Amino acid sequence: MARWALYAAAFLVAASCTRAPHRSVYVDSAIEAELRQVHAIDNHAHPKKVVSEGEEDHDYDALSMEGIGDIFLPAPFSADSAYFPEAWHALFGYDYADRTPEHMRELAKAKSKIAREKGDQYPAWVLNRANTDIMLANRVAMGRGLTSDRFRWVPFVDMFIFPLNNDGLKAKDPDHRVFLTREEQLLSGYLESAQMRALPATFDEYTAFVSHRLETWKAQGAVAVKFELAYLRTLEVRDVQRENAERVYSIYARGSEASPEEYKILQDYMFHHIAQEAGRLGMPVHIHCALGAGSYFRAANGNPIQLDGVFNDPSLRKTKFVMLHGGWPYAREAAAEIWKPNVYLDISAFMYFGYPVEAARAVRIYLETAPEKVLYGSDASPISDTVGWEETTWIGSRNGRLAVGLALTGMLQDGEITSERAKQIAHMVMRENARQLYGF
Ligand SMILES: [Zn+2]
Repeated sequence: MARWALYAAAFLVAASCTRAPHRSVYVDSAIEAELRQVHAIDNHAHPKKVVSEGEEDHDYDALSMEGIGDIFLPAPFSADSAYFPEAWHALFGYDYADRTPEHMRELAKAKSKIAREKGDQYPAWVLNRANTDIMLANRVAMGRGLTSDRFRWVPFVDMFIFPLNNDGLKAKDPDHRVFLTREEQLLSGYLESAQMRALPATFDEYTAFVSHRLETWKAQGAVAVKFELAYLRTLEVRDVQRENAERVYSIYARGSEASPEEYKILQDYMFHHIAQEAGRLGMPVHIHCALGAGSYFRAANGNPIQLDGVFNDPSLRKTKFVMLHGGWPYAREAAAEIWKPNVYLDISAFMYFGYPVEAARAVRIYLETAPEKVLYGSDASPISDTVGWEETTWIGSRNGRLAVGLALTGMLQDGEITSERAKQIAHMVMRENARQLYGF
């Protein structure tokens, strides 16, 4: 009888909420309970601001995928993914397994009704649905509804690394053209807001301008800065003498094209300058370390082992670094880097890389290395007309908790940790480690 009741209950749950395939993954119930109740701090995401009728928000990413033609997402995120109806159900009460045009219209209506009702509270409402307390918003600028009690700002810094003529880099492939054009527009905007119509004449003035921008952001509430460098070049950064970078700047700042080798000298110096200044200002430096979107992304560019030089630089030990996306697929390489005292990683974007079991494999390696250095993150972003940052926030939270639960259950079963310690680590990853790192 009890057995029958259990089957019936399982069926009812499946029938009433989603048509997702039955989950046979096993998470220890005490760990699962801990994970379910913890109010997460999401280390990395791209939430959208509240917009008025006709207004658009393009600030949710510096290198937004708008304009990139060929974006592949693995099986879990295919167009007919079971995740999407689950998220629509959880957020907007969508009660169908299919996606007929009629049901999609109903969904759009339900979505805009809730957005209208919630108004400026809508982004916070989304966080509540995903049991997320605070989301670090990696955006060019913050905006309406992204209130500082729930959303903390992480601006981008790559544009300061590419101040010279970028024609050679743009010619590499169509994605580089889109990305670098965007970086140039952002840099022009910052120069303009500093009353400059072109790059300053001297390198001293340029580095001072960059430092001043970082100070301004800090005063405006930024809690970290983010490099998307791996989309644009290698993460290998050499130790460069200032006079060498200065020489490159003084020759090429007026527009002629530097050779790739010369340009890299300036780029590497600027990376170091920004990392050092961020450390001085108490802002951790986020670095995209993983495979990236777009069909021209060089997988090797995301390998965190290339950051050895940066992490071993004694002059950067006051800067805290967070490798975003756990270095995937180079999870072991990322684990090796969190041996460094000032280096952390997050598990954002794993929902895009594969199913939670794949994330769990990586998470377990990190947790077996330095559980106090591992942060939950979603990398929630709008990915289509029907799957926005809302849905990916919910899926990221659900899958992230599941991955952490699977990893900890494995460690518990293999006798590596006690049940008490497993619950403690679950809390650390979902919330406490970020609280410690940022001082929230
Ligand atoms: Zn991201």
